[in-house]
Formats: sequence, C-alpha cells, structure tokens
Amino acid sequence: MRESITTEALTGACHCGRVRVHMPSASAGVVACHCSDCQKLHGNFFAMLVAEQTSVQWEGAEHITWYRSSPANERGFCTHCGSRLAKRPVEGSRIMVSAGLFALAPSRAVIKNVWLEHKPTWYQAPRVGAMGPEEFVSLALAHPIESPTAQYGYALRAASGNKSAPGVMALTWITAQDETERERIRAHSRQNVQDFLDEPGFISIVTGFAGLRGFTVTAWQDEASMQRALGQHHAVAMRELFGERFVASVWTSVWAPTRINRMWVRCAVCGALEAVSDDPRACSKCHSAMPERPAFW
Ligand SMILES: [Zn+2]
Ligand SMILES: [Zn+2]
Ligand SMILES: [Zn+2]
Repeated sequence: MRESITTEALTGACHCGRVRVHMPSASAGVVACHCSDCQKLHGNFFAMLVAEQTSVQWEGAEHITWYRSSPANERGFCTHCGSRLAKRPVEGSRIMVSAGLFALAPSRAVIKNVWLEHKPTWYQAPRVGAMGPEEFVSLALAHPIESPTAQYGYALRAASGNKSAPGVMALTWITAQDETERERIRAHSRQNVQDFLDEPGFISIVTGFAGLRGFTVTAWQDEASMQRALGQHHAVAMRELFGERFVASVWTSVWAPTRINRMWVRCAVCGALEAVSDDPRACSKCHSAMPERPAFW
C-alpha cells in the first residue's frame, strides 16, 4: 500500500532521541526547499513533510528551541543535539517537519522543489517523482501548486439527503486577493453550508478552492428554497463584499435544467448498470434489490 494514503501516524525523532514527533502519514511531501535561509540552516536544501500544525504532536517539546529565522518564520532545533526539526510560519496553520527525522517508506519521493531560483550551482535539485491524486490534494492544501495552465486545490461536498431532482442549480465563483482573504471566504462558506443544511429544499453543495478562486455548485429543489437559505448568513457576507474592500472578483448565476437525464446505478449482485428513477426497486436483470438511489447532486 502507498504510505501517503494511509491515515496512520509517522513517528520520527531527533538524533539524541529527546524530541519525538508524530504526524499523519498523509502529510504532503517530501518537498525540497532551496531558499537561502534553508541553505544556511541545513547546509544544503531542506527536505520537509508539510502538514497542519494541529495534526503534529511533539514529545520532549521542552528540548526544542524556536529560532526566528525571518520575520515570517521560525525554525525549531533540538537544544541538546542540534537536529533541525521544523519550520513554521509565525502566522499560519502549516508546519514543515524535517524529513530526516523519519524512517520513510521507500515509496516516498521528492514531489516538489521550491525556491529553485536560489539554489547554488554545486548540487543538482532532486528529481521530482510522479504525484498521485492524494498527494496533489494534500500538497495543494499545504503548499499551493500551479503550472502555467492548471491550479490545483480541493473540494468538498455537503449533502442534506434530499433526493429530489434539482429545480435550479447555482454556479458561483469568487476570487480572494490573498490567502488571508481565502480563509475569510472559507469561514463564510462554512456558515453558509450550515444555513443551507437547515433548509429542507437544499439538495447539496460541491465547493472548493483552486488557487485563490473558490467555487460552489449548489442544487435546490426550487428557487424559493434557495432564496430562503441565501437570506441567512449569505446576506451578511454579501454586505461585507460590497461594503468593504473584500475579494478581488465574484460571479454568481442560477440555472434551471433543460433536461435531466436518467441516473445509472450498478447492481451490486449481477453488475448490470441499471437506469434508476424510483427507489426502492429491483434489478431488471437479476431481480435483486438495487442499492438506494443516490441524490441527483
Ligand atoms: Zn536531540
Ligand atoms: Zn527554505
Ligand atoms: Zn442485478
């Protein structure tokens, strides 16, 4: 099994063993940072695993000295043996933990080089291995990834259990000016989803961020239920948008279906792909009970 998709913890330690660290094995990386601070502090590049600070536990934290290496970051080292342990932003939720503290599975490879423009010429940057989808997601959460044509991000779905066909769907996007604004948009979004789930006509939302652009696709039984839900916290967020210098750009829209096609569900017994509309129902091929019909969105 690939180590990066399990939920078990990785356990690492400094050279003298006084400091131990536990972090999710799904932590993104290895990421190699070639910046000039890392050159000084590590002697060459800094190989790190990236995770949310809240998901990382330290034992022997009293042996860690945190050194402010730049206005934005501090670095932890073991006061006894000097092992470099981690880098963390002074403001921010992530932490970059030294890959060298862990006995990592052979399947783990460097997945990204950062600050290559500061790399000295005396060594070659490590070759970057192929990234799996899970690594894209965990790295995008921790450390934005971009190519000239693609920005990666993450998405989530929240569903009410309402299985009606959607009467309207809303498509929206909003662009944050920076990462702080992105967090502010996410906070609004969490509150909106709570309001939506309280509205019986709400079907589901798929929402997420790719880079600084957030998007939502929401499905509603009818427009009236959508209007009721948007009258709650969403109205507060809209006032901030128009009353303050909050967000770079935004677009909203509401769509009604021209056609809703049949939904196809696989029979768990004979494997036939069955068109389902009613629920419960039996497979037309083997007459076994079909699984419960999923929601339309
Ligand atoms: Zn130590
Ligand atoms: Zn660096
Ligand atoms: Zn069947």
